[in-house]
Amino acid sequence: MEIPKELDPPARLLMGPGPSDVPPRVLRALAAPTVGHLDPYYLEVMNGTRRLLQHVFRTTNELTMPVSATGMAGMETCIVNLVEPGDEVLIGVNGVFGGRMCDVAERAGAVVHRVEAEWGRVFSPDELRAALDRHPKVRLVGIVHAETSTGAHQPLEEIGALVRSRDALLLVDCVTSLGGAPVEIDAWHVDAAYSGTQKCLSCPPGLSPVTFGPRALARMDARKTKAQSWYLDLAMIRSYWGAERAYHHTAPVNMTYALYEALRMVVEEGLDARFERHRRHHRALRAGLEALGLSYVPERSLPMLNAVRIPDGVDDKAVRGALLREHGIEIGGGLGPFAGRAWRIGLMGASCTRRHVSALLAALGGQLGGAGDALAAADATYGRG
Ligand SMILES: *Cc1c(COP(=O)(O)O)cnc(C)c1O
Repeated sequence: MEIPKELDPPARLLMGPGPSDVPPRVLRALAAPTVGHLDPYYLEVMNGTRRLLQHVFRTTNELTMPVSATGMAGMETCIVNLVEPGDEVLIGVNGVFGGRMCDVAERAGAVVHRVEAEWGRVFSPDELRAALDRHPKVRLVGIVHAETSTGAHQPLEEIGALVRSRDALLLVDCVTSLGGAPVEIDAWHVDAAYSGTQKCLSCPPGLSPVTFGPRALARMDARKTKAQSWYLDLAMIRSYWGAERAYHHTAPVNMTYALYEALRMVVEEGLDARFERHRRHHRALRAGLEALGLSYVPERSLPMLNAVRIPDGVDDKAVRGALLREHGIEIGGGLGPFAGRAWRIGLMGASCTRRHVSALLAALGGQLGGAGDALAAADATYGRG
């Protein structure tokens, strides 16, 4: 055969909805010697990873670990283990990922009640309370903390207490928020949550950190049926990540190294400092984008995902193509009803720096006109300290 050419990926500035830029230290971890997945060294890495994840999720949950696949597998792990056929679940749908949660829950045999909000809006505790009043038998409530399709930032503080008072479990998608904005698993009464490595943790895609609290464990222990998925069945995975270390599947050893190192970087920076960094660069980017005449889609924007409307007459694909070809910058297009109508600009983890903000505003301003004003508007926000 003619051998395909040698691998030589371009170095981009990744400013879309994920993956984000990966620090050299994390890439080096991927290149470290592979050991056996039951090697004592790997067991140390597993334990360290669990402790780091507990810190980042702000939880003492013992069952905290990365699922060996991307964020969607984390979603599926939570649902297939917490839901049995016939269970009623309530899911908040205000974007793509809430919709996917419904699909996964239906496939697991749940009776799904959707509570809908316009894309870009978030749910108030009153809306969810009313939905729970209409459906008193709901056993699980699923909600997306950071809806990456719209940029909306869902407050969770009151929702956790509300769901707990109804004896249902609260499942939260924090794929995009973890490591970039506060996620308080224990303080917010979240029973189960899943995330991803390639957003604000700035690790390549490939693992999905999950965490389960005592009420979620009790629900799993009381199951009458086996989970629908063999690979994602926590009854077995728990003994692999637990004290027994019973073989279930071969963990992706080098991906665990990468996550371990990425989490160490999060903890070294400090969660509060990291959240403040995301807010600071979001303020600057927002000032610059608004100076370009772009308006935000959501009422309550995430810091790490900036969804803005594409102005009339501007060609979405032409602009994104030029950013990538001429500047090496990737931003995201819109999903679903926002396809062709919104851009999604990420400031996640290592992609959240003043250099990224300036490069994006200069390049996008060059396409739309007004780069100078956009950069000045962004710079002015840094001056304020
Ligand atoms: C990215 C994302 C996912 C899915 O993660 P994958 O790694 O693409 O499987 C799920 N939920 C939200 C909110 C996301 O942003």
